[in-house]
Amino acid sequence: MATVVFFHAHPDDEALSTAGTMAALSVAEHRVILVVATRGEEGEPVPGVLREGELLEERRTEELIKSANLLGVERVEFLNYRDSGMADSPTTSNPECFWQADPEEATKRLGDILKDEKVDFLVIYDPNGGYGHPDHIQVHRVGTLWSEQVGIENVRWTTLNRDAIKKTIELAMRETPDEGLAGVGEDLEERKKRVEEGSFGSAEIEITHAIDVSDFIDKKRESISAHRSQIDENSFFLKIPDEQFLTLFGTEWFINPKETRKENEPFKANLFN
Ligand SMILES: [Zn+2]
Repeated sequence: MATVVFFHAHPDDEALSTAGTMAALSVAEHRVILVVATRGEEGEPVPGVLREGELLEERRTEELIKSANLLGVERVEFLNYRDSGMADSPTTSNPECFWQADPEEATKRLGDILKDEKVDFLVIYDPNGGYGHPDHIQVHRVGTLWSEQVGIENVRWTTLNRDAIKKTIELAMRETPDEGLAGVGEDLEERKKRVEEGSFGSAEIEITHAIDVSDFIDKKRESISAHRSQIDENSFFLKIPDEQFLTLFGTEWFINPKETRKENEPFKANLFN
């Protein structure tokens, strides 16, 4: 049985990007460990969700643990940096934030947490952190540095399939132009622009692995809904019908940075291959 470390930036990233793969691995009795760099202090809480005097990071810690339990994670750890917030916000210059962390020091924190584990696979983000969030980019850097220092051979980058997203958006624009994606008013033009700019995910040709997580799609949705301080009950993630949810989230995409996939070569279906 393998030990697989998922290194994420904020509570809820595990739910949105790798929940299905995590659930599948834990059901197959692999040891799944979740390390999260920050407690998501800069997230925007759903209005009215916090109790009197409750801090957002406390709530998000609880939500992460609930989500991790749903997914069968055996160990949850925090690096305990502060959330850096979005790229253009002043929070990125807070000396406590993850973006400002010395990569060597952050790598040591990660290494100390995992020193007694025999890690077979490490999952981090692609170099742009999926969509350019500073904490996600930093996870990529710190995870890469640690894997090099301790000699972890098997690193996978979780990513989004930009071409598949573009196709889905174009289809929604043709079929339900007034309603937006899944009829819940997503701004499709805006999304399409971001996808086309290339600031979002990876091109399909760069992706090596497509993991079908349809057997774990309910778990993935439950894991997303555990993060209720971030996800309003009217949110797109909770409102869209099961069938559309499966289309949008039923595949999780990964890159093995040591591999290239030729145009007509199929994706690998197993994270370990
Ligand atoms: Zn995040």
